[in-house]
Formats: sequence, C-alpha cells, structure tokens
Amino acid sequence: MHPIAIIGSGLAGYNVAKELRKLDKETPLTVITADGGQFYSKPMLSNALASHKLPEAIPLNSAEQMAAQINATVRPHARVTAIEADRHRIRIGNEIISYSKLVLALGADQIRIPLAGDAADAVLSVNSLDDYARFRAAIKDRKSVVIIGAGLIGCEFANDLSAAGYKVDVIDIADQPLPRLLPPAGGALLKAKLAALGVTWHFGTGVQAVDKAGDRLQVTLANGRTVAADVVLSAVGLRPKLELAHAAGLKTRRGIVVDRHLETSAQDVYALGDCAEIEGLVLPFVMPIMHAARALAATLAGKPTAVSYPAMPVLVKTPACPTIVAPPASGAAGEWRVEQNADSVKSLFVDAAGKLLGFALNGTATAERAKLAQQLPPVLD
Ligand SMILES: Cc1cc2nc3c(=O)[nH]c(=O)nc-3n(C[C@H](O)[C@H](O)[C@H](O)COP(=O)(O)OP(=O)(O)OC[C@H]3O[C@@H](n4cnc5c(N)ncnc54)[C@H](O)[C@@H]3O)c2cc1C
Repeated sequence: MHPIAIIGSGLAGYNVAKELRKLDKETPLTVITADGGQFYSKPMLSNALASHKLPEAIPLNSAEQMAAQINATVRPHARVTAIEADRHRIRIGNEIISYSKLVLALGADQIRIPLAGDAADAVLSVNSLDDYARFRAAIKDRKSVVIIGAGLIGCEFANDLSAAGYKVDVIDIADQPLPRLLPPAGGALLKAKLAALGVTWHFGTGVQAVDKAGDRLQVTLANGRTVAADVVLSAVGLRPKLELAHAAGLKTRRGIVVDRHLETSAQDVYALGDCAEIEGLVLPFVMPIMHAARALAATLAGKPTAVSYPAMPVLVKTPACPTIVAPPASGAAGEWRVEQNADSVKSLFVDAAGKLLGFALNGTATAERAKLAQQLPPVLD
C-alpha cells in the first residue's frame, strides 16, 4: 500500500499528521521536507528575544522525535521537484515516491522588493527557523536594525528588538503601522507606544537602495533620507509557494486552489496552510491551519469532512501595545466606530443594521476580545 505523503513539515504538515494519527494509527505516512524537519512554533520567532530563546532552543521536537510521535517516515532535507498527479507519484530529483494521497503543505515565500545598491543581497527576511538562525547570527553583538514593512511581522520584530535594546527604524509606504488591519486611531496608538519604546518610524516612503558603509549598511529612502543600520530585515508580506503545483497543472490563483474538502483540482491531492486558497481566502495564520488540519485528517481517514472557519481573531505580539485584530471580510459594507482613551482603542466595524463584522482592539480594550469574537460571523460557514 502506498503511503499518504505530506510535503512540508511546518505547522500545516505536522498538524495534519498529528490529527490523522488520532483517527488512524496504521496507514503508512511519509513527511518530506526541504528543511530540517524540526517541529516548532513559527509565531515564537518574532518574540524569541523577549522570551530569551536562542534559535536552537526553539524546536519542540527533532525530525526523529516527530517520526516516532506520528509513526511516520520523515525525510528532512529532501526537496520535492515534481508532482505527477496522474500517476500518483512525486519526484525528489531522480527518486520517485508513489502515494495514495498527497498533501501539499508548502508554505509561502517572503516577498522581496527590488532594491538597488551594492548590499541589496544582504537584506534578510524571516519565515523559517533557518532564516531566524541567520538573522540572530547577523544581529549578534550589533546594535541597530532597519525593518522594511510595518505589517504584523514587521511590528512584532520592531517590538521584540527594541525591547531587547536594539535601535530600530521601521519604513513603510503606508502612513501607519498595520495599515491593512487597524483603522487610523488604533494605528496611532500602536505607533505611539512603539515610539515610546524607542522605535523610529518612517511612513509614507519606500526603500530604494541598500549600500555598504564600512562594516554597516546605509538604507536610502524614496524621500531622499538615509538611515544607517547594522542589519536590514524585510517584512513586506508573503506569497504562497505555487511553483510545484503550477508545474503539475494544478489550478492556482493567489494560492493553490482547494475546495471545502481541501482538495486541489487534481484527484487525491490536497493543500492547506500558507500555500492554499479556499473560496478566495489565503489566510496565513495558525488558527485556520488547525481547523483545516482537523478536517483534512478526517477526510484522509475516510470520512469526507468540509472545513469551516469560525471568527479567528489574531493576537499581534506587540506587548508595548497589546493588539488583537479580526478584520471584516474583504469588501464588506460598513463603517468603523471607534471609542478611545489614552491607553486603549476599541474599533468596531459594523454594517448598516449595526451588526458587528470585524474589530480591532488596542491596549486595555483587548480584554473585550472573547465577548466580541462571539458576536462575529464565521469566516467560512
Ligand atoms: C515571524 C512570524 C510570526 C508569526 N506569528 C504568528 C502569530 O502570532 N499568529 C498566527 O496565527 N500566525 C503567525 N504567523 C504565521 C504562521 O506562523 C504561519 O501561518 C504558519 O506557520 C504557516 O505554516 P505552514 O506549514 O503553512 O508553512 P511553513 O511553516 O512555511 O512550512 C512549509 C514547509 O514546506 C516545506 N517545503 C516547501 N517546498 C518544499 C518542497 N518543494 N519540497 C519539500 N518541502 C518543501 C518547507 O521546508 C516547510 O517545512 C507568523 C509567521 C511568522 C513568519
């Protein structure tokens, strides 16, 4: 009997395997991954300094421990080079592995903006444990970091690095932090609290070039200013990994397109996590992965199960300004209603009938998260 094959050992790949083993202890299972196959919590990467964690202390289990725990063959450092869906097999270079069912849990790539300058290649980004180990090595015994992008990951690193004593500059073409998640009042509070921690913001301008300046770097902004830094971290967003699926003829749009059973356009090939798109949604967060993993495990165990998503507020790990966001569906009609004081902003997105469709809470208003989340419509019914 051919195994169920899972490509990817991130939270998506390993959580499907774990959920499957709760339902089916025997079906052969193979996890193939380009990285080291350790099981780790990726969200920890952007608050590891605050929790005094070195990169090597972040993994919860090694690939070998995972293999034992999920009764699977785990193949670390093995990059799948092709999917032959019509023949139910995949290739790792010249090696061929046949599968009964295939799960794509390939994740996403950090978007790299084109930059001029003789040190453009020195710009780092963090979307894996290996990336993070490189980043920590780069900032060791150094003092300053420029972060490109004031989105969720950029703000979390700004808080973590600043609280750990680094001089931090953040650059974004928008005019506030978390521009897609926070209405202006919430953005203003987050901006002020992180500024009080020491973060210098550069809004309304992009980065044009990164050049060497002795043993440091010089970042040139579109507004003509320059900022000196030891390390430059880019956090401008993610793009689902599509190449394998695309080359195999699977339907892709922003992500690998799946139906409510997480099945791609090819029979017996499924996808979830940061690489997948379901009903137009690409949701690169942990909660959707946990829901999708449970549903897909049931399907793989022989009980076809459609995924549904409840409201899934996201906690932004900026302790200087606790923030929780549950954005309204894209294109939803309504307006933000904002209540604020010096240490708190409660922003509720409501429709014409007064129904709550989304929220953004900053500071002490985050205490209302559970109560408000109950009133939200499900993300996918
Ligand atoms: C710094 C940071 C902080 C975050 N914080 C939060 C948070 O607080 N809350 C939250 O909800 N979300 C957070 N997220 C997002 C969340 O961590 C991700 O949505 C989630 O970890 C994605 O898991 P994944 O398994 O889909 O992808 P990944 O973890 O990227 O895993 C992809 C896997 O696929 C493998 N792979 C890819 N291509 C191949 C190939 N061809 N052959 C073999 N293997 C392959 C890779 O080696 C890897 O093992 C954060 C993300 C980052 C980067």
